[in-house]
Amino acid sequence: MKKFLFLFLVVISCSKQQDEAIDSEVVSPIEVTPEVVIQDFDNDTIYNKVKPNLLQSYWTAFVKSASLYDVDLSYIEDVTFVSQDLGGSTAGIANGSCEDYVLILVDETVFRNLTTGEQIFLMYHELGHDVFNASHDGGGLMSPNVRSLEYKLFQTEVEDFFTGKDYIEWTDEECEFIRDLTDN
Ligand SMILES: [Zn+2]
Repeated sequence: MKKFLFLFLVVISCSKQQDEAIDSEVVSPIEVTPEVVIQDFDNDTIYNKVKPNLLQSYWTAFVKSASLYDVDLSYIEDVTFVSQDLGGSTAGIANGSCEDYVLILVDETVFRNLTTGEQIFLMYHELGHDVFNASHDGGGLMSPNVRSLEYKLFQTEVEDFFTGKDYIEWTDEECEFIRDLTDN
């Protein structure tokens, strides 16, 4: 009987040691797990290359975003950004809507006071008008007011725009009206 008890204790202590070994194996990988990087405008590989003092950089970003959804804009060459006073509260105007060129007017004084998210939203919105003749009726990226969007939501709106989910063109009538407004 004594012999049996001794053997039993040995078995218990062996299995206890095994448990400890397993525990330490489980703990160590957690310690070396790298920090999770949260995607945002400043570390996104497309948006982190835009520069408010280099307006053309927004065109480069827009073309790259479009290519993510198999929309090829590389053939468009007539793209101009003009810096001008737009009266104090307007940051940008799509002056090439319903025309075969892209002409974005930017009031840099107003534009530079916007957050990075607002600046990108504004440029993508105006380029949406000029490049695709997209109207405000599509909502999302083409909603009429410049908004500061959280990165992930903005990405969803960009996707919905380039995949055609949120995208309605100006009608011919609306285009005529717009051309009257923008022709100086
Ligand atoms: Zn608009």
